[in-house]
Amino acid sequence: MRVTRGQIFTRGIANRCPNCGGKTLFQEGSLFNLNPECPACGLKIERDEGFFLGSMSLNYGVTIICFLVPVLILYLTGVISGLFAAILAAIGAIGVPVLFYRASRSWWLMSYYLCLPMHLPANQDAPKQGEDRNI
Ligand SMILES: [Zn+2]
Repeated sequence: MRVTRGQIFTRGIANRCPNCGGKTLFQEGSLFNLNPECPACGLKIERDEGFFLGSMSLNYGVTIICFLVPVLILYLTGVISGLFAAILAAIGAIGVPVLFYRASRSWWLMSYYLCLPMHLPANQDAPKQGEDRNI
């Protein structure tokens, strides 16, 4: 295997293309628009519809566990008032997913290729005559 799982992990954490490691996941000059494919290596980033629903779930999960639960704990232990907790939760419920958007997309793509590293073009050999890729 040419691209290892360790490389896929580090590239995913750094929001880089899992195939070539280029800073090409998102369109240049844009914060939220994914490139349909990597301009450097041609890896198809925009996959079938619904592929990135998992990244939304990941984003919500991170928001709940890393932000909303700590705010709730601070409220329940009396550190912050109920009004302040409600305001903080409302701001965080919108702000944290926006801040985590790019990472969640990259992490979701990373998790796919961590499970199926042989699907990366860099890890595939040319098909032999009569074979299809079946991907
Ligand atoms: Zn690439």
